[in-house]
Amino acid sequence: MSTEELGYILKMPVPCPHCLQESEQTVAFLINNENFGCLECGGMVDLASEEWVAFRQKLSEALTALQPYFDPLPQ
Ligand SMILES: [Zn+2]
Repeated sequence: MSTEELGYILKMPVPCPHCLQESEQTVAFLINNENFGCLECGGMVDLASEEWVAFRQKLSEALTALQPYFDPLPQ
C-alpha cells in the first residue's frame, strides 16, 4: 500500500466555519487541497490559513511515519 493509498483510506471530520457541520475528508485530500466547498451550506472551507497549512504539513509527516506500520499487514 502506498502512502497515497493510505491517505485515501484515512478520513477525518472537518468542521465548516460557516454552518459548523462536519464533513469527512480523506487525509490525502486535506494535504493536497487549499479549500473545499461545504456540502451542507456551500460555503468555502479555507485550508490555506497559517494554522491549516501547519496542520496539513504535520498530517503529511504523520502519514509518512504511519506508512511502515501498514506495509507488513497481511492482505
Ligand atoms: Zn457549511
